[in-house]
Amino acid sequence: MKIITDERCAGYSREGHPERPARITTAVERLKTQTELQLAWVAPGGVNDAQILRAHSPEFLARLQIPHDFDADTPFFENIGGFARASVGAALQALKAARGGENTFSLMRPPGHHATRDRAMGFCYLNNIAISVLEALATGSKRVAVFDFDVHHGNGTEAILLNRPGVEFFSIHQFPCYPGTGAANAGRNCFNYPVAPGVPRETYRATLARAFDDLKHFRPDLVAVSAGFDAYARDPLADGTLLAEDFHWLGRELRALEIPFFSALEGGYSHDLPDLIFAYLKGVEGK
Ligand SMILES: [Zn+2]
Repeated sequence: MKIITDERCAGYSREGHPERPARITTAVERLKTQTELQLAWVAPGGVNDAQILRAHSPEFLARLQIPHDFDADTPFFENIGGFARASVGAALQALKAARGGENTFSLMRPPGHHATRDRAMGFCYLNNIAISVLEALATGSKRVAVFDFDVHHGNGTEAILLNRPGVEFFSIHQFPCYPGTGAANAGRNCFNYPVAPGVPRETYRATLARAFDDLKHFRPDLVAVSAGFDAYARDPLADGTLLAEDFHWLGRELRALEIPFFSALEGGYSHDLPDLIFAYLKGVEGK
C-alpha cells in the first residue's frame, strides 16, 4: 500500500483550529510504528494550472494569493495556495497508483470536498477529489464514482461534478449539519444519503451499505473516495455514531468491489484519528 504524504501538509496552522497539523503527524507516527501493513511512503506529484482549472475558476486561483480569511472557518495562511496544491498533487499521485493496480491513500491536508469552483470554505481550499476525478475523465476513465463518507456533505464536489457526463457522486453525511446542503439528490448524477444526528450505529452503517449498492449499480471503472473520519462516535465536530470497526468495514467493502480506487483524507478531528485511518487501511488491505 502506498501512503502519499510529505511535510508540507503540516506547514500551516492557526491556534485552536480543529483542522491542525497533528491530525497528520500523529497518523504518520501511528503508521510508521505499526507492523501489520507493509507501507511504501511516496511524495505528492505535481499539479499544473490546467488540471486545477477544470474544477476551479481563474479568479478563484488568484484569490488564494490575497491575504484575507475566506470565512471564519477557513483562514488565509501564507502560501496556502502552495499547501493546497501539494494536497491536490497527493490525490493525483494516489489516482496514478490506483490505476497502476496499487492500494493507495493520500494522507494530506488541507482537505478539499467543501471547496467549490470559486470559493474556499469549511477548511478546504482546492477540491482534491474533484480535480482528480476530472483528471481521470480527461485521461481515459469512462465511468468514475465518488464515494464520500465524511460526516459533512461534500457540497463542493457535488457543485463541481453536477451533471458532468461519466461521473456519479455518492455522499453519506449527517443532516442537518454543516454546510447545510445534501438533504436530497441533485441533478442527474449526485446522490445524497442524509443521516440524522445521533442515529443508532446500525442505521448509519445500513445507510452506507445502501449507498454502496447504488454505486455498484453504476458500474464504475474507477472509484475516488473522500475519506473523512468525522462520523466517528467521539468526533468533536458532529454527532455520528461509527466506530473504528466500521471504517475497517468500509475499507473491506471498497476492496471487495474489485475496481481500482484511491482515497484522500477529508475530515476527522478526534484524537483517535490515527487508529481510525489504520483500521480503514487494514480493511483496504484485506487484513
Ligand atoms: Zn467533515
